[in-house]
Amino acid sequence: MLAGRERALATVDLGAVRHNVVRLASLLPPGGKLCAVVKANGYGHGAVAVAEAAQAAGAAWLGVATVDEAAELRAAGLAGPLMIFGALTGSELQNAVTADADVSVWSERFLIEAQKVGARLHVKFNSGMGRLGADAATAERLAVAAAASGRLAGLMSHFATADEAETSYFNLQLDRFLDLATKLKQRFPEMIAHTANSAATLREPRAHCDMVRTGIAIYGLAPANDDPFKDDLRPAMRLSSYIADVRVVRPGESVGYGRRFIAECETRVAIVPIGYADGIARSLTDRGTVLIGGHRCAIKGTISMDQLTVELPGAVGKPGDEVVFIGLGNDQRILAEEVAQLLGTINYEVVCDVGPRVARRYVGAESAA
Ligand SMILES: *Cc1c(COP(=O)(O)O)cnc(C)c1O
Repeated sequence: MLAGRERALATVDLGAVRHNVVRLASLLPPGGKLCAVVKANGYGHGAVAVAEAAQAAGAAWLGVATVDEAAELRAAGLAGPLMIFGALTGSELQNAVTADADVSVWSERFLIEAQKVGARLHVKFNSGMGRLGADAATAERLAVAAAASGRLAGLMSHFATADEAETSYFNLQLDRFLDLATKLKQRFPEMIAHTANSAATLREPRAHCDMVRTGIAIYGLAPANDDPFKDDLRPAMRLSSYIADVRVVRPGESVGYGRRFIAECETRVAIVPIGYADGIARSLTDRGTVLIGGHRCAIKGTISMDQLTVELPGAVGKPGDEVVFIGLGNDQRILAEEVAQLLGTINYEVVCDVGPRVARRYVGAESAA
């Protein structure tokens, strides 16, 4: 009926992804590599399309969290170095090798399993994140054993506080990592040392080492959930729906579950066919705003699974108009960072929550980076 509109649409600007990758790579020392992190379906943006754009812009590596994510990239024809960050079961480890993906190792037990199937290994050192990872002595033993069988690919660690203003713990972790990396690189110069996420990449050249693993910033989102533009990052995702109908609600009448919105005066309300199953958090009820024709309008009443309602000021909005949840509209914009602040979470979660029911449309695939 409403030609040209998608019920729920994430428009992903691959030109922005390429710009962000080039921008991040420009910070690196000569020969420094960038691993584009495309786990969780490319932070909701679509892993395959983002991986292709990142490689076109010079990303040498791709990083994912799970073996199925690695297999998806290979099935789509993506070649080149690929690594899986997370823990793997025995059958997942076998599938990782089949997908020609490197894996991380932090225990003797896993090393034995990984060597049986011939996996290429990145020793994961716990420099202070306090999740997975070996202590320095164990990491060294694992590296020596992996190198003996010709399967040592890297030494890695991960920061707990790279996005925080206070830098002492970050620096402690970095010093621990650099100590171990320097020591091991003397013995195994081919091994790549990598520890920087997006925040560390933007903040601290000493953390760049041989490779950085950038996720959030390649999507144009700010690692500290503040302002992506201050780092010359371009947000890649626009999330939108459309006005399916406009109703006039009379005083005393209510809209939606729980009668959370009861009109005090005659009010125009837009019904928008997108809901929490698409990733518009239910807790944005009565708090979120959207852009319609460049105007900020308030979400009113309970957000349902498949629908929500927006109060329309004045004459704004008619059936078929676009409703923007994340993105630009005239001189107004809603950033994922703003939505995250409203929700008491971070931009990472806002984009990861954009569900499989939301169509992805890619633009900017052809233009130069
Ligand atoms: C997710 C992840 C990254 C990317 O972190 P960003 O903050 O999104 O840049 C890097 N390394 C590891 C091990 C990760 O799991």
